[in-house]
Amino acid sequence: APLNLLEFCRRLIEELQLNAGRQHKISFTSHGECTHVCMDENLLRRILTNLISNAIKYSPQGGKIIFELAYKDKIVVFDIHDQGIGIPVDSQKELFTPFYRAANASKIKGTGLGLSIVKRCVDLHHGQICVKSEVGLGTTFSVTLPRVSG
Ligand code: ATP
Ligand code: MG
Repeated sequence: APLNLLEFCRRLIEELQLNAGRQHKISFTSHGECTHVCMDENLLRRILTNLISNAIKYSPQGGKIIFELAYKDKIVVFDIHDQGIGIPVDSQKELFTPFYRAANASKIKGTGLGLSIVKRCVDLHHGQICVKSEVGLGTTFSVTLPRVSG
């Protein structure tokens, strides 16, 4: 069934913001004409919840999280940007391996499974995921999904 992506994202951010509390503000913007898409709601929820939870978890109090949704011709791009601890370059290619955790994250609890699940969900959707990050400055994860898959 077609999904109203804008509504879906608004509701999800509202929910995640409630969980995050006052220490982290999640801002949401969207670009392009928003129409319905054919995406699996559960896969999408898993992808975005994991990425936004990470953005919060690996950011100091007061760190801003920016969630951007961009509609293109045949794809939708989701950007999750944070001002957190960042990911060392050498670690960036390992992130999607189950149980992998970067050395600079060792003080923060985690199992190292979230991103491997995200990668699976993105693959199931014939999408792509990439990361840009600088230690001490922050991280951006970008997920690109076709509007209609399969
Ligand atoms: P969990 O299974 O509970 O999600 P986790 O957060 O450690 O545990 P992943 O979500 O798979 O596991 O992330 C893997 C590693 O990638 C993290 O341990 C951390 O080193 C790094 N990482 C992921 N997202 C961020 C981020 N936004 N900022 C900094 N480091 C990150
Ligand atoms: Mg995680």
